[in-house]
Amino acid sequence: MIDDIPEAVRKTAPTPTKSSLPMPILATVVGLGVVVVGLLIFLFYPKASRETAQTETEVASGIQSTSNTEIIQSPPTETVAEPEPIDNVLGHLPYQQAKASDLAPITADGSIRLKKSAAKEFREMQSAARQQGIILTAISGFRDEATQEYLFFEVKKNRRQDTSTRAEVSAPPGYSEHHTGYAVDIGDGKVPGTNLNTNFEKTAAFRWLEQNAARYSFELSFPRNNPQGISYEPWHWRYVGDRHSLETFYKARNLK
Ligand SMILES: [Zn+2]
Repeated sequence: MIDDIPEAVRKTAPTPTKSSLPMPILATVVGLGVVVVGLLIFLFYPKASRETAQTETEVASGIQSTSNTEIIQSPPTETVAEPEPIDNVLGHLPYQQAKASDLAPITADGSIRLKKSAAKEFREMQSAARQQGIILTAISGFRDEATQEYLFFEVKKNRRQDTSTRAEVSAPPGYSEHHTGYAVDIGDGKVPGTNLNTNFEKTAAFRWLEQNAARYSFELSFPRNNPQGISYEPWHWRYVGDRHSLETFYKARNLK
């Protein structure tokens, strides 16, 4: 029977029967392979291309890509908050100007003001000193940036001081502790000639402050050889008696 079939047909005819078993397996393996490769490409290619795009953005614009990343990752409220500036100018640190509504007078005519919390403590300190015969006079309290601008640049011109010499004795506008409403320049009412002068350290008022100011949460901002490199100012005291004042003076400088 087989001999009746032409050779060409005979050879091809048995082939389907011989390869009937391997063919579906081969097809399955190949088919599965294609599916797996396709799946892998589908899963990983978009991610890979996204990463490449991000790297290119970072290379193209360093800071901008970082802020873009922050916007994607954190809620909008957090992106609004910027890190507090910690740079100093000639040793002086930047300070926020107190709001007028947060200030209270420490002199009878109301011309000198401090933040309410500091004003209350100052008045208590002043009356405690008076009971011991010490007259603490307020020379300067809160100063706005315009006043500081005048004090720094105009006085600098009049005294023909260069910027760094001026900065040793006065803060540039925006960098004075007096902006905060927590700093006060104190004089001895009995020896006004020592006002804003290092001779103030020889007065009874200064000695009293050294011994008692801490009880009212006032501290000397610029003692001798202070790390900020500011001239010694025995008359300049700052209030650190509540959370906000403490953060105002210590947060920025403790950050690196
Ligand atoms: Zn001062």
